[in-house]
Amino acid sequence: MIYLDNAATTKPSKEALKSFNQVSETLFFNTASIHKGGRDAARLLEAARGQILNELGLGTHHLIFTSGATESNNIILRGMIERKLQFGKTVLVSELEHPSVVNVLEHYKDKINLQFIKTTPQGVIDLDDLKEKLNDECILVSVMALNNIIGSIQPIEEIGQILQSYKKVYFHVDATQAVGKVTLDYKNVDALTLSAHKFYGIKGAGALIVNDMNVIDPLLLGGGHEKDKRSGTVNLPAIVGMAKALRISNENLTQKNDRLEQFNNKVRTHFNDYNKMKIQDAQSPYFINLSFVGAKGEIVVNALSELGIYVSTTSACASKSNELNETLLAIGNKNDVIEGSIRISFSQNTTEEEVDALIKGLDTVYKQLGDILHEV
Ligand code: PMP
Repeated sequence: MIYLDNAATTKPSKEALKSFNQVSETLFFNTASIHKGGRDAARLLEAARGQILNELGLGTHHLIFTSGATESNNIILRGMIERKLQFGKTVLVSELEHPSVVNVLEHYKDKINLQFIKTTPQGVIDLDDLKEKLNDECILVSVMALNNIIGSIQPIEEIGQILQSYKKVYFHVDATQAVGKVTLDYKNVDALTLSAHKFYGIKGAGALIVNDMNVIDPLLLGGGHEKDKRSGTVNLPAIVGMAKALRISNENLTQKNDRLEQFNNKVRTHFNDYNKMKIQDAQSPYFINLSFVGAKGEIVVNALSELGIYVSTTSACASKSNELNETLLAIGNKNDVIEGSIRISFSQNTTEEEVDALIKGLDTVYKQLGDILHEV
């Protein structure tokens, strides 16, 4: 099996699993217990917290552990909106956001004025449009750092700088796909969300990072874990695994990404003059979104799956919806391109042999589909 659906989830690294098992066996205690076992576990929890913050260059921010990015996005967006509603109503997001952001904002649709920042055909936010839409009514800007469908990367540092002149505006970044793939400067970000299973960690662990703990209005009330911001026994084994996974995925990142860039270019070059295929631009070497124009993406995904190659249509979170993919729509694609699109997402462990097998598989399916396909 060749697994190229790493944007949906990654295989946990051996090191993350080792940490998970070690902690489960030796420090399985409740971090809130006051006996020595509990205190040792709590110390390990604090070490993991510090490691993750430092790894992201956010040593002076605060972090609470959650079950993943969906939970983190829900907590922070609700918190930020509720806190700022008395000052204004405008919330600005790109048209490329994840359902765990969009659906929370939709939930507030009667209370907020939701506006979308324009993007370029490459899926990058138009900073002039952002500047035009910013005003004294604006309370929140939320942006996905690395797009989960096409792999575009947002100018987080520049957005942060622009927002410095708007002290009332919170800046939230969904960094779920970015963490472990690209180094960005998050220092002007008010809140950042991430999920361990996207960077070779274990499912069920994530984090919410903020520069001010007061902005967190807890969703889960109970025993007061995580400084009263997220009650419930802390998943220490997965959290320690997450800290380990993050350190390892950030190691030699430039070399790893250069290698993936070569693989990515190999696929793009091979299909460059296939006139019934459209390949979307991507800044991240981990992503290739391509369309078999005229076919249905599901058919392509299933045909590749028969060949032992696992990719996806859009994101795992949207693949059951019949609607056209919003991201591909927002960057100006026609319906037949969107319907025929598949997402291939590499991992740091993807090999050249796998990439060659992918090219062969895509060629086979292209031939099988024959006259169903038409020119872009
Ligand atoms: N944001 C983005 C950009 C994502 O790609 C995902 C995962 N599909 C999430 C949020 C939600 O993450 P999780 O499923 O781990 O809660």
